[in-house]
Amino acid sequence: MRRFFILLALLLPIYGFSASFAVAAQPVTDAPNTQPVRVLVTTNSLGFLVAEIAASLIENKKLELKVLAAPGRDVHYLDARPSFIAAARRADLLIETGAGVEEGWLPVVVSSAANPAINEGRLGRLRVAEHLTLRQSITVTGPHAGHVHAAGNPHFNIDPLRMALASRVIARRLGDFFPDQRAELIKASFLLEKRLKDAAKKMAAQLIEGQRFIAYHEDVDYLEEWLPVINIGYLEPIPGLPPTSKHLRSLVEQHKGDALDREPKPRVIFAAFNPSQGADFLKNRLGWTTHPVPIEPEQPNWESYLKLMIIWTDAFDKKY
Ligand SMILES: [Zn+2]
Repeated sequence: MRRFFILLALLLPIYGFSASFAVAAQPVTDAPNTQPVRVLVTTNSLGFLVAEIAASLIENKKLELKVLAAPGRDVHYLDARPSFIAAARRADLLIETGAGVEEGWLPVVVSSAANPAINEGRLGRLRVAEHLTLRQSITVTGPHAGHVHAAGNPHFNIDPLRMALASRVIARRLGDFFPDQRAELIKASFLLEKRLKDAAKKMAAQLIEGQRFIAYHEDVDYLEEWLPVINIGYLEPIPGLPPTSKHLRSLVEQHKGDALDREPKPRVIFAAFNPSQGADFLKNRLGWTTHPVPIEPEQPNWESYLKLMIIWTDAFDKKY
């Protein structure tokens, strides 16, 4: 893993990742009598679950929600910014995705914050991936074992069905902080679970079944968990390593028959922050379409997450 980050540090300047970003703006309010429970989450996807489950607590200023990662950023590669550390110092509960996705920066944030309440193993720390069954990463077994995603594919936020399960996990933990509201929180998570499952089912029914796609990274492959689509490969030769010409040429060799094959043609789907050159290479040689998509909601709320589900679904051909 360390080897991966060293390699990454060497590659980042080449691929133009910027080292700075803005913190998602959240209103900070002063409760007149009691301090709110401060919930810090790493992504808008997790923030969306908290915001929906605990809407009334937020409205009544009993819970203050703050999101660290700006939505357009790749959450693997953030920096431990001073503002992150300051937020972690004040947090009562830190909710992270887990499975290593925040490993490059969150441990530094937490250790620098020196806030024992959010240390590993404490009630104030929740690593959601540990409570879910993840997609097995292609790096779990075989020659690439131990590489990034060794703990499984952490990008469950792209699967509304797993997000539904995550909402239960988060509701239970919030219940530990608000024992009097525990039943309401669990109920709210069940309602959210139903909305997520219903929306997923409705969108899946719109698509022509069996459409194939190549992902850039092991993230949007979660689409095949809830849409009737099939992932047939990755532009990255190994998760976390940018596409190489050798790997791209091998993909073209492997799939050039598909261009004359059945319709709809396979396509390339990738996070909008990933470079597009690899996808363009397949587009030029195979005539496939390319689809950069956001992978985090713009805001931590239901509307933004639903919009994201619609964008993902629209990357495929519909029956009507
Ligand atoms: Zn990843």
